[in-house]
Amino acid sequence: MEENFRDSIGTINEEGKRAWVFPKKPSGRYYEYRKWVSYGLLIFLFASPFFKINGNQFLMFNVLERRFNIFGFPFWPQDFHLFVISMIIGVIFIALFTVAFGRIFCGWMCPQTIFMEMVFRRIEYWIDGDRGAQIRLDKQSWNAEKIRKRLLKWFVFFVISFLIANVFLAYLIGSDRLIQYVSDGPLAHMSTLVSLLIFTAVFYFVFAWFREQVCIIACPYGRMQGVLLDNKSIVVAYDHKRGEGENGRKKFRKNEDRQALGHGDCIDCFQCVNVCPTGIDIRNGTQLECVNCTACIDECDTIMEKINLPKGLIRYASEDNIEKKAKFTFTPRLKGYAAVLTILIGVFIGMLFLRNDLEANILRLPGQLYEHKEGNIISNVYTYKLINKTSRNIDNVSFKLLSHKGQINLVSFDSFQVPAQELAEGTLFIEINNSALSGDKDKLKIGVYSGDDLIETTSARFLAPRSYN
Ligand code: SF4
Ligand code: SF4
Repeated sequence: MEENFRDSIGTINEEGKRAWVFPKKPSGRYYEYRKWVSYGLLIFLFASPFFKINGNQFLMFNVLERRFNIFGFPFWPQDFHLFVISMIIGVIFIALFTVAFGRIFCGWMCPQTIFMEMVFRRIEYWIDGDRGAQIRLDKQSWNAEKIRKRLLKWFVFFVISFLIANVFLAYLIGSDRLIQYVSDGPLAHMSTLVSLLIFTAVFYFVFAWFREQVCIIACPYGRMQGVLLDNKSIVVAYDHKRGEGENGRKKFRKNEDRQALGHGDCIDCFQCVNVCPTGIDIRNGTQLECVNCTACIDECDTIMEKINLPKGLIRYASEDNIEKKAKFTFTPRLKGYAAVLTILIGVFIGMLFLRNDLEANILRLPGQLYEHKEGNIISNVYTYKLINKTSRNIDNVSFKLLSHKGQINLVSFDSFQVPAQELAEGTLFIEINNSALSGDKDKLKIGVYSGDDLIETTSARFLAPRSYN
């Protein structure tokens, strides 16, 4: 077997320049399944920022204002621990899947693959034709046909990149604001328009030019494959035992008894290589470039059908399955990942349900000491911050001292409203008779009420002069 594929990546030629990949248009069982999966995911991706649950955007990642919605649940920076746990769950989930099923995520679910293979590449086939036509068009001089096709392709690619950029922005700033900006007209929000055009340019660059390089060079998940995969991981694999036989692969000849000659089932037709969007030869074994897109499985199955041999020369299989005919087993490594994942999901769900609707923070005003008032009363001044994490307004909000006898006075009103998903802040004074204090730094327990209902408790320190204790 030639080993030179290990020295370089499939998309760089000997001079170190980009070797442009012109993959054959895939067709077959898996490609059909993948199309349906991609339709579902594209609808999910495009609809999520515009779909609302209880008035909350389904998915939103407003980094600038630090507001996040995940599956309709609003998250605040104060919920960062939940966000971190959900990210860790995501990573372990993908790692678990990778150990068991290789890069199944890359081939079936990754937005890069979905957009590249199921949107941009299909437009390219529609405009430029299949592999042969694309190669001819590329070599051909700039005549009217090439100019027309190129301009059409670049224009359609730009429009789709612009659409993706808009959806991306809806995730970032919220769909309501995006729609508002669109109806105000682009000139009313120049800075947003500039950001939108920058996003468009990035998407255009990625899908029109950078393409499979994202998976090969840029994606950190792709680089992790070497550590995550083992002999038991199920990946898109060439059955080299069957394909090579005793005397290696050989071109197909009618009426030749390949078995008697000791040749394997691979007829060296190169169709699996031609169809590969990352330009590799899967017959060399599992490679970093392979995104498990299944195109080579479909292509080889078609060939096997044509020459009346069983399908599955390239298939989903582990190294052990090919070498020892071993079936899939739930290895200790998989069990370990699954256990950690189950525990984390349990913790996450628990924390989600224990999360308060209202987050209250009461802090003493920095640099302020206590004030001694008439009647042996000590007064401290505080700032309060209340975050309403729900999608309904919380009315009639007031504070009461739960741990000590005393009074809480708001600066301008007795009670107030915390609007849905908003922050309310202000200043308050706490006054306690010194005889009710037990030290110079008492810990107070304060109740936050909506009408007569206690909705949250919080604590704060109360300073008092030492001589009074
Ligand atoms: S498509 Fe199948 S038969 Fe043809 S070269 Fe690839 S593995 Fe061999
Ligand atoms: S080797 Fe096969 S599965 Fe891997 S990227 Fe190429 S075509 Fe897709």
